Amino acid sequence: MEYVNLTPDITVSKLCFGSLTVGKLQANLPLERGAEVIAYALSRGVNFIDTAQLYENYDYIRLALQKSGHPNDVVISTKTYAYSRELAREAVEQARSALDRDVIDIFMLHEQESEHTLRGHREALEYLFECRERGIIRAVGASTHNVALIRGVLKLGLPLDVVHPIYNMRSVGITDGSADDMRAAMEDAKAAGIGIFAMKPLGGGHLFAEAADAFNYVLDTPCVDAVAVGMQSETEVDANIAFFESRQFPPEADRALRLKRRRLIIEDYCIGCHACVDRCRSHALYVEGVTTMCDHDKCRLCGYCVPVCPVFAIKVI
Ligand code: SF4
Ligand code: SF4
Repeated sequence: MEYVNLTPDITVSKLCFGSLTVGKLQANLPLERGAEVIAYALSRGVNFIDTAQLYENYDYIRLALQKSGHPNDVVISTKTYAYSRELAREAVEQARSALDRDVIDIFMLHEQESEHTLRGHREALEYLFECRERGIIRAVGASTHNVALIRGVLKLGLPLDVVHPIYNMRSVGITDGSADDMRAAMEDAKAAGIGIFAMKPLGGGHLFAEAADAFNYVLDTPCVDAVAVGMQSETEVDANIAFFESRQFPPEADRALRLKRRRLIIEDYCIGCHACVDRCRSHALYVEGVTTMCDHDKCRLCGYCVPVCPVFAIKVI
């Protein structure tokens, strides 16, 4: 496993365990089972886990850390939609308590879009900076699907340590530009001393059939320090580690990936409340007559619309 300095004092495995996939927004694995998969990745040398307040999966991670036997050697990155100081304080304290950690390695604002949303979240960001000063957060960042966010960070001169952008060879999920645009912005951020860990190299599942090319594209981008990849089983952990180490999938994993498909489904008992349409920042959902529809080309299969549905009509399978 290759390790890199994401910030001057945070060293991570290049492969980051994207934990969205194990929790209730996606596979919804039983707690013990999800923790086993994460712990297996840790036993194989992955030392970096990405999570979020939204994912509600801190229990999986805490249990996996206990199973690993080295709970403090793992770098955990989480994120929050908090916009006020009080909400940010609650998010930090919730993470510290649920993860059983005094110090959270990386705390980010979630799904930031531009300099305007950064201004709107200024109070929360200031609180995170204060936590960094106090030593209960080691690094502060922002996750994004927008090129304009990175441009905004640089324009405002914000002292972020990391950014966590979506980045893949088909520009899946990049809301305001292409992969080339995102790479140019990441290069400028990197030159400004900001660590880059990319997400969704396989476009949330759209690029399974061409996974090797998709991984190579991201791994061959020099400004990308680390890459978060969602995993749901030991087999997927092994396949991803093999690829990151040798640029080849084991033959059986290659075949399985080519056959693997993910899709968002809206059940016909949808009551047309529009909550999911309002929630989706990729503008993938729309109403046709009384039916809610999904534009699958725009959907990045994040599952963020799942919990807002009052009748549990949305599934990512
Ligand atoms: S439709 Fe749902 S799963 Fe697809 S991008 Fe929007 S929020 Fe994510
Ligand atoms: S949130 Fe659920 S019920 Fe409401 S429109 Fe979306 S799928 Fe239908």
